[in-house]
Amino acid sequence: MQRTSMSLRAIPPKMVLCFTLPAGWIVSGTGVLQNPDQVLTATARQRLATVLSSDAIVTIVGPDEIGPGQATAAGDRLVWHFAADKVNDFAWATAKKFVWQATRATIPTKGPVPIHMVFLPERAAQFARAGEISRHALEFYSKLWAPYPFPQLTLQDGPSAGMEYPMVINSNQGAADHEAGHQWWPMMVGTNETRYGWMDEGFNQYMNILSGADSRGVAPILNGHGQAYGRTSGSEDEAAMMWSANDAGSMYGFQTYSKTPLMLSMLGGIVGDEAVQRAMSEYTHVWAFKHPSPWDYVFFMNNALKQDLGWFWYYWLWTTESVDGRISNVASSGARTTVTVRQDGQMPSPVVLKVKFAAEGAALKAMPNARMIDATTAVVTWPVDVWFNGSRTFDAVLDFGGRAIESITLDPMCRFPDRDPNDNVWPAPAGLAAGARAYVCG
Ligand SMILES: [Zn+2]
Repeated sequence: MQRTSMSLRAIPPKMVLCFTLPAGWIVSGTGVLQNPDQVLTATARQRLATVLSSDAIVTIVGPDEIGPGQATAAGDRLVWHFAADKVNDFAWATAKKFVWQATRATIPTKGPVPIHMVFLPERAAQFARAGEISRHALEFYSKLWAPYPFPQLTLQDGPSAGMEYPMVINSNQGAADHEAGHQWWPMMVGTNETRYGWMDEGFNQYMNILSGADSRGVAPILNGHGQAYGRTSGSEDEAAMMWSANDAGSMYGFQTYSKTPLMLSMLGGIVGDEAVQRAMSEYTHVWAFKHPSPWDYVFFMNNALKQDLGWFWYYWLWTTESVDGRISNVASSGARTTVTVRQDGQMPSPVVLKVKFAAEGAALKAMPNARMIDATTAVVTWPVDVWFNGSRTFDAVLDFGGRAIESITLDPMCRFPDRDPNDNVWPAPAGLAAGARAYVCG
């Protein structure tokens, strides 16, 4: 969630905050507590000292430890000092019956950092897996983009259960992975989350797909996402991604959150998902704490991916257009087969054909723009430039030596937004039930 946040959070030098509260009230917040000797019990301090030594969930203040001398140091009023470096915002929470638990995440190149969780005892069930999920998020995103830059993370219980601040997420386990992801953007790479929500919520949704798959021990599925945008493109309710999130209207959620993973799925269909993620990691390192604009991002990506993707960024970010490709004709002459691909959308895309050959027949000849994915299946690619002369059709010539072709699929990985993917298959499937797909992505 980002709409209630500040539009551009400037990063001041070291931030120091002091809170004076009745003794017995536990305080959490952005930063590192500077005076535990003055505000915590000796027992709590001893327990805290063990947090970084294992992945166990350590109870710092239990549900039965309430009031001055139990939840906190004894006294009438206590002053809590927090200090934070490189933060663009601050959040804090307090309650007189918080349960305080802590665990650790081990950050590459940096070592263990504490994860604190403060919650009301009646909501313990919503925090039962929060430590483990947050640990996975901090460790996974550190490896994916750049090491978590802050000295701790705190999960705060409260009426808002899905909001992010530097080093703090107001979240239980339900949104912990997503909210922890915001520590990279907008907290570390200080993007303008209101003007350009896609660089914040959108990137976060993409990385959540990768993290979710990793936590289940499976490969992420990015096929299908890019093609799915074809079903949305054309809605007059949709604002382009470069519109301010505050002006995105009824499709705000799609524009700000959901569309970016579709865009990055298509980008992965052009350059490969690993290349996309490597470039995004370089972007994170280079632009950390520097407030990149969308132009900084797209030019960075063009350089990192070593190609001019101006056309790609233009259609995805500044328009709501999509690809609309189909196979309009297949004709064989001698050993060659000409596949006529028609493009009715405004957004161009590379032409990617999966060609399934008969098991027997003439020897398969190599084509320079083809790769075999098994003994009888080739994937052949022509660059997006084939559309740049303005033509609506492109004749893709297959020259594999005359082996009979059983089927051809346009955009087999389902990466390019398509109004009707069912016309991407040759021969046209007969008797396809309403809503059924003509092919499986992959
Ligand atoms: Zn979010």
